[in-house]
Amino acid sequence: MPGALVPQLDQCALLLDIDGTLLDMAPTPREVWVPPELEQTLRSLLVRTSGALALVSGRSINDIDLIFAPMRLPAVGGHGAEMRLSGGGEAVATHAPPLDPELKSRLAAIARISPGILLEDKGYSLALHYRLAPHTEKAIYESVAAIRAENPDAPLEVLPGKSVCEIKQSGFTKATGVVELMKHAPFEGRRPVFIGDDVTDETVFAIMPELNGVAFSVGRHSDLTAGRFDQPSDVRDWLARLLTTTA
Ligand SMILES: [Mg+2]
Repeated sequence: MPGALVPQLDQCALLLDIDGTLLDMAPTPREVWVPPELEQTLRSLLVRTSGALALVSGRSINDIDLIFAPMRLPAVGGHGAEMRLSGGGEAVATHAPPLDPELKSRLAAIARISPGILLEDKGYSLALHYRLAPHTEKAIYESVAAIRAENPDAPLEVLPGKSVCEIKQSGFTKATGVVELMKHAPFEGRRPVFIGDDVTDETVFAIMPELNGVAFSVGRHSDLTAGRFDQPSDVRDWLARLLTTTA
């Protein structure tokens, strides 16, 4: 990984996706695990960046806190629906309206296609995980498309992920969340370094040039990134090395 592309820690803002980037994917979203070494690395990087380190995830900030407990970190949660500038601060909604309850319940019913489909209410979005029932992928997307066709005015957006189909209100993305975050101290004026692995991270890859930032992908190629890591453990090792190789 070209370390020369990464600015000194006192000049950069580290923006990190969680699942598939910092943490290895697990059979279900609740089973992810934070290695103790990663916790140490993140705590040290938070100090060295003067607090300019944030997790950027589709998960709600509430959920992020449960996973990283007892650590609380700055975060952009719910695909940009909410933001928290410091671990000790409060999460604020940057883009409000959650999914319409009636629509949400219709979308949730799609999980009944097969017992292997796991339904996750992420607050700002609804996720249908089919890692345990990969044969249901087509049926899931067809069902979502049918509901959207019946509700053409509903501002819905479908986010295809790794063995997950996620539905959220349109109008905000991880990228809008990052843009908002970068307007505030301690992030403002720093050079963002974003690492992400999934389709939803591409919105952030795309805005790095205008923020004078640099992006890296994990496990996939993207023309919008300066390089790629093979897997989350490589990201964790690289972050740990940043502490010893950059000022
Ligand atoms: Mg991810």
